[in-house]
Amino acid sequence: MLLITCPYCGPREETEFRYGGEGVAMPEEADDRTWSRFLYYRSSPAGPFTERWVHAHGCRRWFTVRRDTLTHEILDTTELEEPPRGSP
Ligand SMILES: [Zn+2]
Repeated sequence: MLLITCPYCGPREETEFRYGGEGVAMPEEADDRTWSRFLYYRSSPAGPFTERWVHAHGCRRWFTVRRDTLTHEILDTTELEEPPRGSP
């Protein structure tokens, strides 16, 4: 079982959380092609990956997780408003 550190509550078991998909920013202005890519395309890399999780059975707040998709190691968690550490 994964132990995920909610940036607001601290470490909790994985069962308290829900996965929210890849952490991509919504485009402020977009043509049809850009909007389609935002909605339907995901990068699905092998290695470090930025994703959103919600602490559904806790504070109910969304936050950002950096997870290695090969090892499932949680590399970092940050508040939703913060850019993930290690990102450009
Ligand atoms: Zn929480």
